[in-house]
Amino acid sequence: MAGGEFALIEQLRCRLGKTAGGVRLGIGDDAAWLDPAGRQLVATMDTLVAGRHFFPEVSPEDLAWKALAVNLSDLAAMGAEARWCLLSLALPRREEGYGAWLEAFATGWSALADRHGVTLVGGDTVATDGPLTLSITALGLSGRGVMRRDAARPGDVIWVTGTLGDAAAALDLALVERGQERRVVLCSAPQRDALEARRLRPTPRLEFGAAALADGVLCAVDCSDGFLADLGHILKASGVHAQVALDALPLSPDLADLARSDPECLQRWPLTGGDDYELILCAAPALSTAMQEVARRLSLRLTAVGRILPATPDAQAAVTLTWRDEPLSLPSSWGHVHAL
Ligand code: ADP
Ligand code: MG
Repeated sequence: MAGGEFALIEQLRCRLGKTAGGVRLGIGDDAAWLDPAGRQLVATMDTLVAGRHFFPEVSPEDLAWKALAVNLSDLAAMGAEARWCLLSLALPRREEGYGAWLEAFATGWSALADRHGVTLVGGDTVATDGPLTLSITALGLSGRGVMRRDAARPGDVIWVTGTLGDAAAALDLALVERGQERRVVLCSAPQRDALEARRLRPTPRLEFGAAALADGVLCAVDCSDGFLADLGHILKASGVHAQVALDALPLSPDLADLARSDPECLQRWPLTGGDDYELILCAAPALSTAMQEVARRLSLRLTAVGRILPATPDAQAAVTLTWRDEPLSLPSSWGHVHAL
């Protein structure tokens, strides 16, 4: 993108390239020079493509928040402390350039990055003939290992932070508004706005993840592809089975209200909807009190939704669902569901 590229990089450096702890050299040289001060480095990357991961008309503020949030959520699931980011921007050519766009992008980015002390230390800026594409690398630190997907053990309690399904409901509503979905969802304007805020601006659970790891929790995953799919990753990696009480899944008041008119959604949104960016954690019952104390201190909802069970030969990596203590089966296409 030649000349324009340097102006944009300078704009990013001024707005986001703050000097911060551990940054020996940030934006401006050939590479960033970082000092993890003897701690372990935890690294993750996520790419978002316009038209695939976000509506092309999304505001740059919301886009920046979400692109950063999905990366920080991965660090949260490991129990790491988020520190640094690299940002790759592939920008479709356009008449008006990207000066104003980048200004708004920086505002949305700072709103989340400043909250967690995350500094932008580098990246790449190119023009593309394809859709707007963002790749973010997030780097975090840990002094005491990480929470892993392969560490669930029979007897563990399955916990979920926050609420599930809000973003999926908001996506359905957005598709209805765009005429891309024929389903009718009855919803008031304030409800729609509350759900849409959850879809556009997810909250990475960094403090909770770090505190859970400090308390001895060994197993977690962030819920980005839907509860069943993400719990499925833990079950597969750990070689275990799970029982989950569908009626225990934490729903926001708005979602519960909406789902009352459509029981099918009550199951589908929280179980298979993506983009929640809550944490699913598996922990020995002895840790329950400590985890609930952390949640209380952070004013974060934390819900026990099930148990890890030993794998049986016919039901490896499967979830058995119950509804009010009765077995329940869902279409197998919804995820790793063991039909009873
Ligand atoms: P090079 O050609 O050596 O790769 P660039 O011109 O791509 O260097 O980048 C110059 C500096 O600007 C580097 O420090 C790079 O990390 C930073 N940079 C480029 N694009 C971005 C971006 N989108 N966000 C943050 N830093 C960026
Ligand atoms: Mg470069």
